[in-house]
Parts: sequence; C-alpha cells; structure tokens
Amino acid sequence: MTRIARVCVLGPSGRMGRAVIDAAAGRTDLRIVAAVDRADAPGLGAEVAAGVVASAEFAAALDACDVYVDFTNPAATRVAAETARDRQRGAVIGTTGMGAAEEAALDALAKVAPIVVAANFSLGVNLLLGMVRTAARVLGPDWDAEVVETHHRGKRDAPSGTALMIAKAIAAGREVDYDTVKRHTRDGDIGARPRGEIGVQTVRGGDVIGEHTAYFFGSAERIEITHRASSRAIFAAGALRAAAWVVGKPPGRYDMQAVLGLH
Ligand code: NAD
Repeated sequence: MTRIARVCVLGPSGRMGRAVIDAAAGRTDLRIVAAVDRADAPGLGAEVAAGVVASAEFAAALDACDVYVDFTNPAATRVAAETARDRQRGAVIGTTGMGAAEEAALDALAKVAPIVVAANFSLGVNLLLGMVRTAARVLGPDWDAEVVETHHRGKRDAPSGTALMIAKAIAAGREVDYDTVKRHTRDGDIGARPRGEIGVQTVRGGDVIGEHTAYFFGSAERIEITHRASSRAIFAAGALRAAAWVVGKPPGRYDMQAVLGLH
C-alpha cells in the first residue's frame, strides 16, 4: 500500500501557499498536516485547512510531516532549509530569486534528504524548456534569442526564475556558458547586438500570473514560443505532484523535469 505523504505548507497566507492548500483538497496521495507562516503573518492561529491551524513553529511542524512545500522568499527559504537539514526532511522549493547563500543551504539539505527545486512547477513550462533547448541547438547563434517575461506588480525578483531557466536552456542548446552571453538590461548607446547574445527582458504590471516568450529571430523569419499561466493552480498542482513523488527518494536535488519523467 502506498503511504500518504504528510505535507507541511510554508507561507499559507501567501498567493502560492493558499493555492497549494486549495490544490491538496480531494487528493488521496497526500495530506496537509501543518502550515507555518512568519510570526507576524495575517491569519496566524486560524484554521487554513481541515484541522490545520497556521502556526509559526516550523521545527515542531517538521516533526509531524514527511515533506514541506516552500513558496516564500529567499531568506525564509534559507532558514527553513537549515532547520530541515537537522531533521533530514524532504522539501519542495518553489521560491525564486535565490542567491549563493540560499542555494548553498539547499545543497546542504539535499545531502541528507530528497528535495525538488523548480522555478516553475507547471507541466507546460517544463515541456517548453525542452522545446526551447531543441530550437536553440538546431537554429544556432545566428538566430538572435530573447526571452520576455511578464508578471504581476507584486513580484519581487527579476528576471523571473522561469525566464532564467528558459534563457539557460537556450544556452545549453547552443552549448555555451550562459554567464558569458547573457544580457539582462539595455539602456543608452548599446551598439549593435552581439552575435550569440541571449537577452532577457522584464515587464511588471497588474495581476498577470506569469507569461514567458522565447523569441528566435532569423533573417526574414521568426519563431515565438509562449507559455501563459492563467491560474496559480497549475504551479500548486505541480508542487504537490513533486511532494508525493519525492517522499522516499534517496537524498539529492531533483528538478521538475525529473518528477515529470522528461529527462
Ligand atoms: P507572497 O508574498 O504572496 O507569499 C509569501 C508567503 O511567505 C507569505 O505567506 C509570507 O507570510 C510567507 N513567509 C515570509 N517569511 C516567512 C517565514 N520566515 N516563514 C514562513 N513563511 C514566511 O508570494 P507568492 O506570490 O506566493 O510567491 C512566493 C514565491 O514563490 C516567490 O519567490 C515567487 O516567485 C515564487 N513562485 C514560484 C512558482 C513556481 O512554480 N516555482 C510559481 C509562483 C510563484
């Protein structure tokens, strides 16, 4: 008999935390057993799922769960990973905009527990990554590649983690080091576009959940590969799929492509 995964949700008052709790309702392969928010979060002490009251006690919550799902912010993600490491708990990490210290904390957790880290949990975007990589490999650097991302006005990090994944997939398809060809801002007298450059542009406004387009500009023709998210439910469903998948896996850092069997 398959075991029901016991899940702790971080940030239940957030846009994604709420979506994860909603997506868990009706699932038979997992159960939300705890919800942990920052000490001054709205709704602390309230019931956020059947029988689950939001608390600020992450260590106690970890003791009651098999895996935690984290869509918060880089600083919170780092502290949570350090706490989870002591308890060897699995994790699903959706937070974006992380720096070297946060990545190191995740790598340390991955040494003792299985974790899935993805800047985008949707099936569509993970499929798009493979398509973009193939396009970049076939077209080569003579086709100018640009990624444009649009998100709601509340998004804190830029470019989006998904845009960076797409841009890195283009670099991988061309077999070049992304950091040597990336261009995240343009302003002033920038000169002609260098061959092989990969540009990423950010648009912010309104309530847009997430849109990404990879452009490949050839001479007299152009390819655009676009993904549009119209509900956070797609990320939440993917994160829960990852949570159910990761429990019982050997320690290590996995991505969503592994969860979906796309590698
Ligand atoms: P949000 O601001 O609506 O929610 C963040 C939540 O984190 C809030 O509930 C906040 O109280 C909580 N939080 C902050 N500090 C905390 C702490 N120390 N302990 C516990 N909880 C804490 O943000 P959002 O729109 O839900 O996005 C959250 C993150 O998820 C962002 O980094 C965003 O880019 C990312 N995101 C990822 C995906 C994906 O598929 N990977 C999809 C959407 C958003």
